[in-house]
Amino acid sequence: DGAYLSVRDLYVRFSTEDGTVKAVDGLSFDLERGTTLGIVGESGSGKSVTNLSVLGLHDPRTTTVQGHILLDGQELIGAGERTLERLRGNKMAMIFQDPLTALSPYYTVGRQIAEPYRKHTGASKREARRRAVEMLAKVGIPNPSLRVDDYPHQFSGGMRQRAMIAMALVCDPDLLIADEPTTALDVTVQAQILDLLGDLQQEFGSAIILITHDLGVVANTADDLLVMYAGRAVERGTVREVLRAPQHPYTWGLLDSMPSLITPVDIPLNPIPGSPPSLLAPPPGCPFHPRCAHTAEVGGNRCVTERPALPPGRGAACHLGPERAVSIRRGGPADT
Ligand code: SF4
Ligand code: MG
Repeated sequence: DGAYLSVRDLYVRFSTEDGTVKAVDGLSFDLERGTTLGIVGESGSGKSVTNLSVLGLHDPRTTTVQGHILLDGQELIGAGERTLERLRGNKMAMIFQDPLTALSPYYTVGRQIAEPYRKHTGASKREARRRAVEMLAKVGIPNPSLRVDDYPHQFSGGMRQRAMIAMALVCDPDLLIADEPTTALDVTVQAQILDLLGDLQQEFGSAIILITHDLGVVANTADDLLVMYAGRAVERGTVREVLRAPQHPYTWGLLDSMPSLITPVDIPLNPIPGSPPSLLAPPPGCPFHPRCAHTAEVGGNRCVTERPALPPGRGAACHLGPERAVSIRRGGPADT
């Protein structure tokens, strides 16, 4: 198929002292050029691990990755480190939650933007510096020709985030993976950074994966949405579809525990009871069943014994099925 990034039947397992962690357990999704996919879930849902696997940044000594990751038709699973190294920066880049993990304190911001550009394009030092100034301007750093010689500690948190975005975009990657890019920032700066990503996507045409625990972040930013739980995708659709008529009880829980989007501030939030399951020994059947309030509506023991599959396209991995799920969510009878 024609998707720019195509992930098929991805399994990621870690060996630990306590046993094997099934961090990603049979995940498939597609990402088209110029679109943004939001991947949402609690920590430990496998969302970050998935993306480290796409980038080939997992530790091969402790991690097993199986399945297919096709980037522009090229298989990344089993690709050599040299191939991955070339693709990172050139075709795919990552921005992290904490810019200080990506920026070195010992070099100027400008040098850190210019270096990957030189490495991937063979540009001269002067040309790369000019490009660094241009990128700082694009991400909205004032006085870029002066600030290019600053060290990261001379930048504010929001400016460091912008500098990291400049570093990620300097080689014009087709795929940008942003892992909780705004979590450490205050709300106003968060909104500015998300706007900036949208603008840069328009300009560069990149496909973006936006990883977050906060549905509010993807609501205004992403085109498509993948909700992950316990290493699996449990709901998928366009952002509009999922927010208007969510079909998975876990997605309902995320929505009800989210202050920023639909709930007025004076209504008490409703956090999802319990905690995510251990991925050393995931629960049988539906991995959400220990926390789900709707197993009786499914009836019998089905939620505990039978694993619900995620249908292709729009849908949820839940035995309720779409019609019943939506009517339960709306509080009406199933046949209206
Ligand atoms: Fe809840 Fe059962 Fe649906 Fe899982 S399959 S989300 S336990 S109703
Ligand atoms: Mg994470």
